[in-house]
Amino acid sequence: MTRIFLESLRKGRLSRAVKASSAGPEYEKAGQELRALIARHFGRSLQIREVDAGSCGACESEIISACNPIYDIQRFGVDFAASPRHADALLVTGPVTRNMETALLRTYEAMSGPKFVITCGDCALDGGAFKDSYYCAGGAGALLPVAAHVPGCPPHPMALVEALLRLLDRLNTEGQPKM
Ligand code: SF4
Repeated sequence: MTRIFLESLRKGRLSRAVKASSAGPEYEKAGQELRALIARHFGRSLQIREVDAGSCGACESEIISACNPIYDIQRFGVDFAASPRHADALLVTGPVTRNMETALLRTYEAMSGPKFVITCGDCALDGGAFKDSYYCAGGAGALLPVAAHVPGCPPHPMALVEALLRLLDRLNTEGQPKM
């Protein structure tokens, strides 16, 4: 243990410093707009419950990227809740496989209103390339009221910020999206 500690001291810090603008000026600008909208509608933060309904994993990789030190979406007031009971929005990835259909519906039912469903990735909305599979329930759009979609396969963190911006921009005073 002492040897590891001394070796760490000898090597010094190996990580590099990340500037606030590492993700680019457009991402920063959109993020600041998102932060203002979240403050207006939710007071402090927007809590998202993510459900992988059968994705290939790449959509999750991009969601994880959105939380890394470069994109750091949490500084704009977006956070991921461990329980649907604490969530304002449900983020669905994957084409909704038959074995995730019930879990997805129960997650939605466990959320208190007002609540929003956001599909993330091209196959989440309608099943995409997997929609004709015997094991696909047809995408979240066939099961739940989808308020916003994050396009891409997989979607870039910027696409997630832009989709949230469009959704929150449409919220009325009751916290429901204006259709
Ligand atoms: S949208 Fe693309 S990246 Fe995302 S789960 Fe579907 S196939 Fe994978």
